[in-house]
Amino acid sequence: MRALFVGRFQPYHLGHQYVVKCILEEVDELIIGIGSAQESHTLENPFTAGERVLMITRALDEIEIKKKIYVIPLEDIYRNALWVSHVCSMVPPFQVVYTNNPLVYRLFKEAGFEVRRTKMFNRSEYQGTEIRRKMIEGEDWERYVPRAVAEVIKEIDGISRIREIAGKR
Ligand code: NAP
Repeated sequence: MRALFVGRFQPYHLGHQYVVKCILEEVDELIIGIGSAQESHTLENPFTAGERVLMITRALDEIEIKKKIYVIPLEDIYRNALWVSHVCSMVPPFQVVYTNNPLVYRLFKEAGFEVRRTKMFNRSEYQGTEIRRKMIEGEDWERYVPRAVAEVIKEIDGISRIREIAGKR
């Protein structure tokens, strides 16, 4: 069975990594869809789709997964009724969707897919918004992301980018 897990991954953090490991215990292959792929260089979405692909693939290399994982950027289409068809046209066929996002849940359910809720590991700490805030404020953010993700963010000078966008320099 092949599954789909969609998120914005701004950035990909240890909570996401935990969810991915849990999903892989239940399925044979996983598609990770990077939502809002067209967005970057904003406070909500600082990283490009390509940078997020790099973060996720390198973080997955760290945990030596044997199962096949596809990481695929998905642009928003601003027409919810057509979004599931749009997603299906961009990724390999899948049978089950993992999400906690109520809209994503509803749209895939209406389209007839099996949809499962995901577990979330220590949600109060492992949260994209909170990690981005720490980056801006100069607090310790690295402990909340896989080591490979921290390396990518440094490689692309991501902290300067998000601080500049926030008007901190
Ligand atoms: P999101 O807007 O990125 O995330 C919403 C919230 O859910 C965030 O706080 C996120 O936390 C949290 N979250 C993510 N995964 C979670 C999990 N496993 N357990 C608990 N909370 C979790 O939405 P998303 O569900 O991650 O991604 C949906 C993507 O689909 C978005 O890019 C959206 O734009 C796209 N979409 C597009 C359309 C359209 O184009 N019409 C329609 C529907 C959805 P973190 O920040 O920590 O991840």
